[in-house]
Amino acid sequence: MSVSDETLYNIAKVLGGEQGVEIIKVLKENQDITVENISAITNIQINDVRKLLYKFYNHSLVTSKRFRDKETGWFIFQWRLQPELVEAYIQGMKQKILKKLETRLEHEKTHEFYHCGNPTCPRITFETAMDTVFRCPTCDESLRRLDNSECIEFLEIKIKELKEDLNT
Ligand SMILES: [Zn+2]
Repeated sequence: MSVSDETLYNIAKVLGGEQGVEIIKVLKENQDITVENISAITNIQINDVRKLLYKFYNHSLVTSKRFRDKETGWFIFQWRLQPELVEAYIQGMKQKILKKLETRLEHEKTHEFYHCGNPTCPRITFETAMDTVFRCPTCDESLRRLDNSECIEFLEIKIKELKEDLNT
């Protein structure tokens, strides 16, 4: 399974900004390319290209192979994109999001929430509301029980969607 260009560039941008996107575009067009050649095509400094490639490498987006230059005896590294691992990266991100949503859902289900009605004030848990004798700690208005069933429903739908997505 491979990913769309858009997804690929979004990941590149998150990890490496605009320069990251440029490098990934070059890697898409050229398999097995050296840092020097990427730098020449993109006009990005060699050291910056190298830094970004290592970052991509640490996230398994790219791979490198090395061989010895017959004339100079030096090692040459060539880089290429690993689209199948890009997919693995995305799956990993989705797993993380799923975990966060599940933790959040658990929190919503096991807590009672209170609110004063002012949109700029935060929600208060039952424990905190007890401490302030059911007054908003921000604006001092009285607190009312907040119905969080819509929030729970939303989280449950999102979790179900993500699980289905991860299983296909
Ligand atoms: Zn308030």
